[in-house]
Amino acid sequence: MQQTLRQDRPIVLTGDRPTGALHLGHYIGTLRSRIALQHTHRQYVLIADAQGLTDHASDPERIRRNIIEVALDYLAVGIEPTQTTICVQSALPALSELTLLYLNYVTVARLERNPTIKDEIQARGFGRDIPAGFLCYPVAQAADITGFKATIVPVGDDQVPIIEQTNEIVRRICRQAGRDVLPEAKAVVPAIGRLPGVDGVAKMSKSLGNAICLSASSEEIKQAVCRMYTDPNHLKVSDPGRVEGNVVFTYLDAFDEDKEAVEDLKTHYRRGGLGDTTVKKRLEFVLEALIAPIRERRAVLARHPDDVLEVIRSGTAASRAVTQATLDDVRDALGLFTFGRN
Ligand code: ATP
Ligand code: MG
Repeated sequence: MQQTLRQDRPIVLTGDRPTGALHLGHYIGTLRSRIALQHTHRQYVLIADAQGLTDHASDPERIRRNIIEVALDYLAVGIEPTQTTICVQSALPALSELTLLYLNYVTVARLERNPTIKDEIQARGFGRDIPAGFLCYPVAQAADITGFKATIVPVGDDQVPIIEQTNEIVRRICRQAGRDVLPEAKAVVPAIGRLPGVDGVAKMSKSLGNAICLSASSEEIKQAVCRMYTDPNHLKVSDPGRVEGNVVFTYLDAFDEDKEAVEDLKTHYRRGGLGDTTVKKRLEFVLEALIAPIRERRAVLARHPDDVLEVIRSGTAASRAVTQATLDDVRDALGLFTFGRN
């Protein structure tokens, strides 16, 4: 009965590249939604190792090593393997086949126009030397989402253009097939959009060295908050300060549950008379309260790596059947050659 109920739930797919430890940006961007959605939806979480290689091909060891680290982060933050299926992308061959198929329904010009890709190409300094796999990763992401027939994708707002591109591919395939063989997906984006890095320059990202990890020690939190960008013109405590663009306040908005206290601090800061050190102390306290229990659960789980591997192994086995069924549906709908059916 329980199983039947779950089968009827809407399907959620999200994932992360195993390029490093998960950070506060992931927490705000998607992990918090995933922890809630797992109780009301059928949720799959994909460790996107194949996508990680698209800009880390010269360091495959980093991707391999981080698969277990990301899985540990999931379990420590509250993603429950009884409620969520955790799987590894490269071990799902149907997703690669869907990617290859979808590449025929996208133009290079459209891939180059994707604003997320444009931003990321610039951030990574690829110039014209863009790995083809990187340019095409939105197509692989379309395969991931549709492979599970997901209709809901909780993501940071940097990923919205990728979901739009997924839906374009879905419409192209359905038009070609003459029926709705795949559903369109909806991005679920948090109110804060994307969390900036501690330097305030770009979004917090594993690859940019501007992140606070969910496994950060008390000392690492302290140091990160200490070097956080504030208002460069707020020199003396008595000076009026700017709250907009001040990373410390952006983080308080994101993580401090006492919204009224944060508003009072903002008023005081704008008026003058409130020092950066006092605001930073509060943020340090808030972040420590969030991260300490995650860090402790993670340390316990890390003592049993075989159990963690078993979680992703069984999740991947279940996902293999689901994604293969979608590939069969799509091939069938498009009228492609299949042994035994021709
Ligand atoms: P990389 O630097 O390797 O690309 P990343 O830190 O950008 O890593 P991803 O694995 O690419 O992380 O992103 C996984 C998910 O987390 C995506 O849905 C993305 O939107 C979300 N996310 C990542 N960083 C942030 C952020 N700073 N704010 C909000 N959401 C984020
Ligand atoms: Mg990224």
